[in-house]
Amino acid sequence: MMPDHRPAPAIEARDLYRFFHAGDDETLALRGVSMHADRGELVAVTGPSGSGKSTLLACLAGLDEPDGGVVHVDGEQLSRRSEPQRAAMRARSIGLLFQANNLIEHLTLAANVAFVQRIAGQPAPVDVDELLERLGLARQRAAYPSQLSGGEAARAGLAVAMANDPPVLLADEPTGELDSVTAARVLGELTRLTERGTAVVVVTHSAAVAQRADRVVELRDGVVR
Ligand code: ADP
Ligand code: MG
Repeated sequence: MMPDHRPAPAIEARDLYRFFHAGDDETLALRGVSMHADRGELVAVTGPSGSGKSTLLACLAGLDEPDGGVVHVDGEQLSRRSEPQRAAMRARSIGLLFQANNLIEHLTLAANVAFVQRIAGQPAPVDVDELLERLGLARQRAAYPSQLSGGEAARAGLAVAMANDPPVLLADEPTGELDSVTAARVLGELTRLTERGTAVVVVTHSAAVAQRADRVVELRDGVVR
């Protein structure tokens, strides 16, 4: 047999468990969840409210620590490391996109993108103006977040998430509150990212997003269906 030379998945969760305690109540948010996304893949995570989608995404991002199981990014272990180590890996390798935008209010759009690049502590792999141009935000480069329209703010969130050209982009319901035109544009950008080799994991209720995905991971009560 040929040896297996497949590269490690861009991001991989193996047998994740996450419990939350409130008084005597225990919520089993994740009960042995395994999933992965390869480079160039769009993976949709679906499931009803409370099924563990956001908890899974937070563990994949290293924002939260699983109680059991491991997360690997490009073959490197992310879970069970110190918070500063996880933050450094996240800054380098993971773009995050949430519904509520991830912009700093007192910085212009261009400064927001540059700030995220500086945090990563490596030469910026993307030119700020080129990135804003690509997302149709060239004219907004000096605008503050409060001055952006809903559609512009959504694309600005994408600009920040893409600032370091990360191998992995994680998005939690990024099109949830957008008008259909902006939602389609965001989905188009996510698809374009996969064509450039990025692994995209997107939590979504949108049939359009799930339909575009290479794979759908459906969660029910903290378990993959
Ligand atoms: P989804 O994103 O699919 O709606 P979540 O991952 O947010 O689901 O939540 C999964 C379960 O874990 C829910 O029952 C939720 O109430 C619970 N949960 C999530 N985060 C916390 C927390 N920080 N403390 C207590 N319970 C939590
Ligand atoms: Mg959620």
